[in-house]
Amino acid sequence: MEKEALKLVIVGSVDHGKSTLIGRLFYDTDSLPEGKMEEIQAASEAEGKEIEFGFIMDHLREERQRGMTIDTARAFFSTDKRDYVIIDAPGHKEFLKNMLTGASQADAAVLICSACEGVEEQTRRHVYLLRLLGLNQIIVAYNKMDLVGYEQRRFEKVGADLHKFLRRIDIMPTLEVPISAKLGENIASRSPNMPWYDGPTILEGLDRFVKSSLPTEKPVRLPIQDVYELDGQRVAVGRVESGILKRGQTLCFLPSGGRKKVSEIRKFGEQDVEQAGAGECIGVLFDSDPPGRGAVGCPPEHLAEPTESFEASVFWLAGKPLKRGEPLTVRCSTQEKACSVGAIRERVDSSTLEHTERDADALEETEVGELTINTQSPIVVEKFQEVPELGRFVLLRGRDVVAGGIVTSAGA
Ligand code: GDP
Repeated sequence: MEKEALKLVIVGSVDHGKSTLIGRLFYDTDSLPEGKMEEIQAASEAEGKEIEFGFIMDHLREERQRGMTIDTARAFFSTDKRDYVIIDAPGHKEFLKNMLTGASQADAAVLICSACEGVEEQTRRHVYLLRLLGLNQIIVAYNKMDLVGYEQRRFEKVGADLHKFLRRIDIMPTLEVPISAKLGENIASRSPNMPWYDGPTILEGLDRFVKSSLPTEKPVRLPIQDVYELDGQRVAVGRVESGILKRGQTLCFLPSGGRKKVSEIRKFGEQDVEQAGAGECIGVLFDSDPPGRGAVGCPPEHLAEPTESFEASVFWLAGKPLKRGEPLTVRCSTQEKACSVGAIRERVDSSTLEHTERDADALEETEVGELTINTQSPIVVEKFQEVPELGRFVLLRGRDVVAGGIVTSAGA
């Protein structure tokens, strides 16, 4: 049986050493496929370049882009304790997008901050995003210690700068480690050059993290992803986002309100199972024709409240600003609805935390807005803290993802 994988996101300003650290984590844990390092080494030599650990990440990205690593789970490194999947995307914007879309909800984060360059604007924006997404298992890695003479004072100075920001958004790192990603110091093994640091290495710190628990104790929410015809039967598929779904249970499908009884639950490779809990992808047979994509199943005694207006914190990603009232689409779990922003109650600069404007008409790139979103037809959303997958959404302009956000209050 496979070990459970912890999803890890590595954030930090460009050039602070994210790719190098990722390369190191793969190399130092012996997680690269056989011959891969030699291949990368030969390719670097052919170009007359010194081998860089960052090339490992480039290489993994290329494979993914060429469709060779279809299964993202292959891009993992392993310790004795567990597997780690790294959520990654080339480019700053794609990366932010990836972090905000449902498929890549991370369990933990490593924030890289170069001890040489110090805290930068992007460092702060990334931290803000971690906070927005409710990530609270965070290791801060102060990188490039080799370039600052392994000085404890420099580590403490950059740490103090970062803490000023962290305190203001109420984040406490789980662990802070001085490292050299390039030289592999304090990552898998302790560095003899920093005897003043006696805490855990990055890998030891990661192994102490716990996998995020799924909301099994909450009422059932089953958004339907699709309906398939299988052996003459119509099977609805979807992921149980909260609660535990049981055979024989009645679900009420929102927003239309139709009721159906669960006659069979199928999991991958298993036919008729008794129940399925939050996080499980299942096929379901009902006593009547299944509801279509976007319908959300709830127990009749614990109904969600479909709404045409909700409050949200939104991180705006597009170069062209958001205009209040412009036509957009909101995608939340499997639901897609036409919408527009009714109010921009607050505009915040995600780097300085400055509240730039109240009751604004526009929101600019990398700004965070406290918004009211109005949909043209009812949508089922939940507060992000309660059911994360129904509390996280993206906004589209045409087919482009232009923002990501979390629901702060459902049913405004
Ligand atoms: P990214 O943009 O955050 O992915 O940064 P990279 O991993 O590409 O690193 C940027 C540059 O910093 C590269 O030239 C790396 O070789 C260099 N670098 C990364 N980590 C270290 C380190 O610990 N020490 C030194 N001296 N250089 C480093």
